[in-house]
Parts: sequence; structure tokens; C-alpha cells
Amino acid sequence: MQRAMTLYLARYILPINRPPIEDGALFVREGRIGAIGRRKEVEVPAGTTVVDFGDAVLLPPLVNAHTHLELTHFPLWARNLGEIEDSRSFVDWVKKVIRIKRAVDPKQYAYSLDEGIRASMKAGTGAIGDILSWFPARSVYRTAPLFGRAFFETLGRDPERNRRILRTLKKILREGQAGQLELGVSPHSPYTLSAEYLEEIIDYARRQRVPLAIHLAESAEEVDFLRESRGSIATDLFAFVGWSDMVPPAPRRDPVSYLAERNGLHSDCLLVHGVQVEQPDCEKIAAAGASVVLCPRSNARLGVGKAPVADYLAAGVNLALGTDSRASSETLSVWDEIAFARSWFAQQSSASDLIRMATAGGARALGISGEIGALEPRMGAHFQVLSPPRLPELQKLDEFLCSAGRTAEVSHLYLRNREVLQTA
Ligand SMILES: [Zn+2]
Repeated sequence: MQRAMTLYLARYILPINRPPIEDGALFVREGRIGAIGRRKEVEVPAGTTVVDFGDAVLLPPLVNAHTHLELTHFPLWARNLGEIEDSRSFVDWVKKVIRIKRAVDPKQYAYSLDEGIRASMKAGTGAIGDILSWFPARSVYRTAPLFGRAFFETLGRDPERNRRILRTLKKILREGQAGQLELGVSPHSPYTLSAEYLEEIIDYARRQRVPLAIHLAESAEEVDFLRESRGSIATDLFAFVGWSDMVPPAPRRDPVSYLAERNGLHSDCLLVHGVQVEQPDCEKIAAAGASVVLCPRSNARLGVGKAPVADYLAAGVNLALGTDSRASSETLSVWDEIAFARSWFAQQSSASDLIRMATAGGARALGISGEIGALEPRMGAHFQVLSPPRLPELQKLDEFLCSAGRTAEVSHLYLRNREVLQTA
């Protein structure tokens, strides 16, 4: 039974939008945060239940702003199909993903998605920006307590086929929600959709106020393609999927301008990767109010480069972190992503920048910042607890949280004031 009033105590509480609190207390009333502060400062009514986590860190759940949980079993599928070699290039990797997805019965996606949800929660993730390519698997979300958005992925260059898919998509999008997740649409990338289809999707999403997500400016190959309609996307990838006669005339644009000219650069469009951008692009993205999801482990694995985090931060772009899928990432843990990002971005961003991206930044990117992603009065009672064998001093807490090994220390995840981890 849900308790009406609870006081949660922990050695450290990380509210995110204000400095960490030592000997912290979080007072929850009717599922909402009523007060937060030092234990001796937070007054509670008689009859309040006290839950003391002891030497632990209590902080918001993490937000995995870009992932494809339906591909959680990807490494297993790849092994079963004998696809064990690492890809030699970005396009090689895309072809491998297509090969494996084609070989797997889509019904497997539902099991794979279900496991992805469980793995995410175990790693302290409370909200996701998930991409779904096999739409029936959305039924799996219905019983999941996670917040965030599920984006239905679409791509294609054949007008007839695109029309059919868009009809189906419109019908599904009218459902509005799957479980706690708001539904959105994801035109896969500027190179896998014809310009006309991309425009149609963007236009529909804007009119219906449906959120968008797009893989943008990920690789040098994408930049080549949008500039000159050449390179390994135009030749190798297009031949592989049977689009050799659909290579468009050279658009002569960079990825951000290409999207902006199609009305896709706005505050309800989530840009995923954003590696191949220059400083003026960061300014444009900031002015449009769009968020960028960085996926450093995936970028490193595929050898596509490093996003200019310092430029994004200087321009004031809202940044989030994503693990991307198990097709390019070792784990679905955002804690692991943070630890990798700390060394990958080095001086470009601080430890507290990364923690913010993985909590408040991610929540803002998914349109749920009033609910989750920080600990403030009136927000929902959503938090996780880390119980490490030894805690650092308060001044070293941010660096500690950005070092490897945190995933295994997640001892509790509360969503809507309920513990959702079976293991706790
Ligand atoms: Zn992705």
C-alpha cells in the first residue's frame, strides 16, 4: 500500500538544480515532493513514515534519452547468425544492422524490448527516449513504469510504400500514449528518407503536435551524402537496400541546414548524435530550442568522431545522454555512459555537466521536466538510491558519480513513490 506521507533519508541527496545536501531528507506527500533539505531543517507532520537509506546517495532516476530497447538481444542475434566480426566502417555497421534485423522474426522484438526495460530500470533509469521500428511491440510499454517518449521509426524512398506507412503511423499516433510513454515519430535520418517523405513527416508532426526524433549529423559519410550525394552511403548502402536508382541530386547542405530547411529544427525535435556540427550549427540549434542527445560510446565504437560538447554548452544547447542500442553499445546503463563520457569529453565538460545531462537535461529533451529529472517541491516522487561500499567526501561526489562501477550500486528505484526494482 502506498504511504500517504514518507520521509526518505540518505547521507547525500542530489537535487540537481541546487548543490548536494549532506544528511539529506526528502519529504513526500501523496506521491509528490513536499520538501527537501537537511534532515534537521525538514519538518514533517506526525504520522510520517521514515525510510532511512543510511550511507547512500539519493538522486533523480537517470534519463536514457536515446535508445532502441527492441534491439536489446542484438548481440545474441548477431552471434546466432555468425556475425561476430566488428564492422570496418559506419556504413558497414548500418548494413550489418539491416542484415540482422531482416533475419530475425520481429516477434522476437517484444521479448527483447521487455528485457531492455528491465535492464534499464536495474541501472537506475526512470525515463527513456526509445525508438521502435516494429510497431506492435508497443504493447510491451503498457505495463512498464518508465516515463518518457516512444518514437516510431520510419524510413524509405519509395513514395507508394511511404504513403502506406504514414497511414499506419497516423492511426497508431492517435493512441497518444503507450503506458506512461508519450508517442512520437522518428524519421530515421536525412539519408534514409526521401526529402519529400521527411517533409511530410515533419509537417504532420508539427500540425498534430507529435514529438520528433532524428539521427542527425552522426557520421562524415552522412555529411558527404548531403553535400554531394556521393560516398559510401550513395554507392554501397543504397545498392545494398536496392535504392541505386533513387540517389537524389546533390542537396549541397550540411545536416543541420538540411533539417532546418524542412522545418525540422524546433523545440519538439530531438537531435540524436550531433557529432558532425560546427560552432554556428550549435548556435542555430540553441536558437531553435532543440535538444541534442549525445551517445559517446556508440560514436566511439563506430568511429564517427566526437561531438563538440564545449561548443554546445557555450551556445546554451540543452544536452542529454543516450546509450543508443545494444547494436553499438556494451550496456544500456546511463551510469556506464556517464563514466565513458567523463574521459571521452575530458576537459570539454565537467562531471556536474554530465550528471545534469543524464537527469534534468534528458527530462527536458523528452518534455517531462516538471515531473522527473530533479528533486524539487511539487515534482513527482521519482528517485534512485546508490549504495556504494564507501562514500566519498561531499566535494568529490560529482567525480565519484562519473567514475566506473556505479551501475552495480543502484539499490533502489522509486517511480511514483513506489519501489520498482524486484531485487531490492
Ligand atoms: Zn539510434
